[in-house]
Amino acid sequence: MSKRDYYVILEVSRTASGDEIKQAYRALAMKYHPDRNPGDVAAEDRFKEASEAYAVLSNADKRSQYDRYGHSAFEGGGPGFDPGDFGAVSDILEGLFGEVFSGGRRKRRGGRDLTYDLEITFAEAALGVDKTIAVNRPADCETCGGSGAKQGTPVHSCNVCQGRGQVKYQRGLFAAARPCHGCRGTGKNIQTPCDECKGTGTKMRPESMSVKIPAGVQDGAVRTVRGAGEASPTGNGDLHININVANHALFKREGADILLSIPISFPQAVLGASIDVPTLDGKVIMKVPPGTQSGKVFRLRGKGIPVYGGYGKGDQLVTVVVEVPQQITRKQRKLIAELADEIGSDTHPQQASFLRKLRGLFEA
Ligand SMILES: [Zn+2]
Ligand SMILES: [Zn+2]
Repeated sequence: MSKRDYYVILEVSRTASGDEIKQAYRALAMKYHPDRNPGDVAAEDRFKEASEAYAVLSNADKRSQYDRYGHSAFEGGGPGFDPGDFGAVSDILEGLFGEVFSGGRRKRRGGRDLTYDLEITFAEAALGVDKTIAVNRPADCETCGGSGAKQGTPVHSCNVCQGRGQVKYQRGLFAAARPCHGCRGTGKNIQTPCDECKGTGTKMRPESMSVKIPAGVQDGAVRTVRGAGEASPTGNGDLHININVANHALFKREGADILLSIPISFPQAVLGASIDVPTLDGKVIMKVPPGTQSGKVFRLRGKGIPVYGGYGKGDQLVTVVVEVPQQITRKQRKLIAELADEIGSDTHPQQASFLRKLRGLFEA
């Protein structure tokens, strides 16, 4: 099998800079990574080919040897390759796939990851909650106990892979293994398949599990439960729980703070009032002092949300908004007009100051 040119593989010119090579490899790794293309052998080959090309071209010494001698530079035990040469590759993959695809460590080929969408209320997100969820997981078929064979019929070892479930092959610098297609990776040769699972040995079954949602979790957060994904003899996948927080009728959230707007009347703003304020801990009474302006924000310390992954709690910020009456009776209109006559510029110092500045602007 003839090997493709490393520069062609990475789709870069022979004079490409180290950064260009790195970017080209990142793009190809994102596209062809086996986690993104499960079961796609062609993609896996492209991925390995690109990784090999990058391992060479990202290393100045190896690159200059390759430029001079081509692939023959590394053939027949040439100027020795060792697994350390792939350090650069794993650094990039760790950066690309570390968190998202394998939870901070490189993934063994094992069970697939599963996802579950969980909707919780504003208060549950703020205070934390234990939830029982039913996750559809592939589990051993109960009828055949996972063997895949109809009860009472024999199971032999697969003769393609001698029961190992995998076939090894050499690809360039890689010794790799792929699932045996004689037995689809099970290592077994089933004479009469189980009716229930059609010989696969597994069935999707809702499995109830409890998950702890920590206080302060944000909308859109993802909780990963290690090993709770698809089961596999070579290691279980993970379960990713996507958390959606429902909107609250009154509260908004900003980090660990809760924002709340409360309408008050003009007389309350002028005369002061005690108003009921809902909080996560229940109702509290808040004093609005006489002469409170519309838009004034009051801070209720420690009435917010526990700081996620930290200490302490946020605050609740209450904005009071003076509501201007829109539908008024004739009597109310008369009273307000009288009030307007009664109120002079001393009563509205902000308005008086504004009018002074406005006049100054046009007289100058
Ligand atoms: Zn079965
Ligand atoms: Zn096999």
